[in-house]
Amino acid sequence: MSRVVLPGSTIGVLGGGQLGRMLAIAARRMGYRVHTLSHGEDTPTGQVADLEITAEFEDLEAIRAFAKGVQVVTFEFENVSTEAAAAAAELVPVRPSGAALHITQQRAREKGFLADHGFPTTPCEAVRTLDEFAVAVGHIGVPAIVKTAAFGYDGKGQHRITSIEDAEHVWGLIGHQEAVVERVVDFSHELSVVAARGLDGAFAHFGAFENTHLNHILDTSVSPARVPADVTSEAVRITRSIMETLEYVGVLCVEFFRTRDGKLLVNEIAPRPHNSGHLTFDACVTSQFEQQVRAVCGLPLGATTQMRPAAMVNLLGDLWVNGEPDWAGALALPDVKLHLYGKSEPRIGRKMGHLTALGDTVDEALEKAVTARELLN
Ligand code: AMP
Repeated sequence: MSRVVLPGSTIGVLGGGQLGRMLAIAARRMGYRVHTLSHGEDTPTGQVADLEITAEFEDLEAIRAFAKGVQVVTFEFENVSTEAAAAAAELVPVRPSGAALHITQQRAREKGFLADHGFPTTPCEAVRTLDEFAVAVGHIGVPAIVKTAAFGYDGKGQHRITSIEDAEHVWGLIGHQEAVVERVVDFSHELSVVAARGLDGAFAHFGAFENTHLNHILDTSVSPARVPADVTSEAVRITRSIMETLEYVGVLCVEFFRTRDGKLLVNEIAPRPHNSGHLTFDACVTSQFEQQVRAVCGLPLGATTQMRPAAMVNLLGDLWVNGEPDWAGALALPDVKLHLYGKSEPRIGRKMGHLTALGDTVDEALEKAVTARELLN
């Protein structure tokens, strides 16, 4: 099994969302073919892939058949089962590995991994029953946040708990399933580091991005983050150490809280390119998606140099409430770039696309991107 997968070969992507779409665009630009497998049809990834297979991730025969047609398998979201990753790995390399996926796809396991290796993280406890939940809320204190251990993203499966009397009600809301209870962190900044590790252990990063969330969903990202240089280098150091501990190959994102008293805490790890890194497509010599192609194919990593300060704002389905947004209005700002994911149903809270803008400063770039988004309605 050759370790390097050269242009002209086919990359298999498990998952059909926008991350796979942007990965496929980067891969096709470099001369790769792309096959995608997900349970959907006409998916954001499928629309730009050479071949779209519709199957469930639990269908291991379908996964094996898919793997036979490609030279390397990667995934664009973490809720692919370890059994599916293992079935693909019988035939071709799977990068990042199923082992890294196993740890990072479940919050309780991820928090355990971080604590076991001494990485700084939010005070939290894993719980499986109402009794354990009530005890954990007692230990952690209120306000706390409870998050389902599995299948949580964009604030799904998260609830704030403000008094111990709420415990039973909130336990019902999260559906009586395994969860983690975390202390609410009083943060001054939310930061993320997107970085890549090659097959040979080479490491490359994009510095720190500074993020804001609305309703637990990423709203804006800017780069470089407006924090002192030593904060960025510490976040990068932690990220590198996490990747080395996981013996990771590919692109990964670590999200951090920077507390008001200056500490960095790991919030979560995403084993893939990340929404906060979308601005690299327009702002950096190598985007996070090209970097993922290079890393999973065993090629040298690309330069992450950022050409200009940049900002990204997400476009959620909410923007469609009064009909199709005014694309020409936003694009009247000539250096604003529009990225749409080809989703036909604009549901509230659904990520439909994003805008990026470059500027002489981060503040200027952010103002342009936010203004462009306002011009959509
Ligand atoms: P997550 O899905 O864990 O990334 O959470 C989404 C967003 O919810 C975060 O980016 C924060 O804005 C907020 N959040 C999650 N956990 C906490 C916490 N322990 N303290 C404060 N805010 C949080």
